[in-house]
Amino acid sequence: MVGATGPWRVYAADGKTLLFRPSARDRWRFEPVGGRVRGASQSGLSLPARSGGVVLRPVDSTARLIVDGKRYRGEIGVTPAGQALLVINRLALESYLRGVVPLEIGRRLPNEMAAVRAQAVAARSYAHTRIRTSVGRPFDLVGTVSNQVYGGSDAETALTDSAIVGTRGVVLRYRGAPVDAPYHASCGGRTAAASELYGAGAERPYLPSVSDRIPGSDAHYCDIYPRAEWSRTIEARDVNAALEKYLRDYVAGLRGGAGRAVAVEEAGRTPSGRVAALRIRTDRGTHVVQGNNARFVIRPPNGEILPSTYFSAESVRGPGGALARVTFRGRGNGHGVGMCQWGAIGRARAGQSWQSILQTYFPGTRLETIY
Ligand SMILES: [Zn+2]
Repeated sequence: MVGATGPWRVYAADGKTLLFRPSARDRWRFEPVGGRVRGASQSGLSLPARSGGVVLRPVDSTARLIVDGKRYRGEIGVTPAGQALLVINRLALESYLRGVVPLEIGRRLPNEMAAVRAQAVAARSYAHTRIRTSVGRPFDLVGTVSNQVYGGSDAETALTDSAIVGTRGVVLRYRGAPVDAPYHASCGGRTAAASELYGAGAERPYLPSVSDRIPGSDAHYCDIYPRAEWSRTIEARDVNAALEKYLRDYVAGLRGGAGRAVAVEEAGRTPSGRVAALRIRTDRGTHVVQGNNARFVIRPPNGEILPSTYFSAESVRGPGGALARVTFRGRGNGHGVGMCQWGAIGRARAGQSWQSILQTYFPGTRLETIY
């Protein structure tokens, strides 16, 4: 269901041919029909099926379109995509960031502003690189964790808006090339080098392993993360069910079933101390799951993945010697590469600037203004 906070217009796919002039009160429903888009208004108007889709735009550029109850800046394109509709919000990069930064860094306080600004630059840099590489598809970014979480204008806060304005157009570059500036919730004490996540040969000089230790102490800037330490105990039957369900996606050439787990153990550590691989011994053989994929193969019944690869695994045996359960104890949350968001928050509280935070997690990069 589409509406708006003011009068709006329905255009043909060219964005110029005016089709309808809905009032602020009008609501329209669009649906796919045979590879085309059909529409109907609550006031009884109907849009015959169109193969190219439609473009929706508020008359006043400060008004917002409302799609399924969520408000969005800019315009909305509705195009057919097989048996479904592809809904694309087109808006300026700075407006997009207003719906991303608050969801990626959470509700923050004024004394954490430097972390919010660092997050704004990281999110802008990431989006900037995706826009440059999205040639050949009708959109630049997906509004979920697969790119960056985007909540439209309902997500906006005064503090994050101010951080975006205060860093307007600023992105990170390394030797002139845009940097995608990866980030994660908490590194657990030390970030991972790019090669630990993306494999050997994926070295990126601006993504080394960085210590989050507070100088002169045993504590880390990200220890303030509410779930800095975690543990997960998974019963053997759930381990086996998870292996049956997920292992084939992460182990090449797996034939037949995964087998019943006998033991689950770490196979080496990366330079930053993360699990290099997970070795899963079963009655059908031994499976090795590399790097970050180790988080995805053994899950509790709710399907939740392990928070990080910064863990140790303990296989607990039952009375007969069979595997009873596996306990993972770990630190941090996320892939561990690039900026540690809770480390950035801790550094901001300690008085570090947003420039210094970015230079810490992305050493050798330069802050440049692209517009
Ligand atoms: Zn950290």
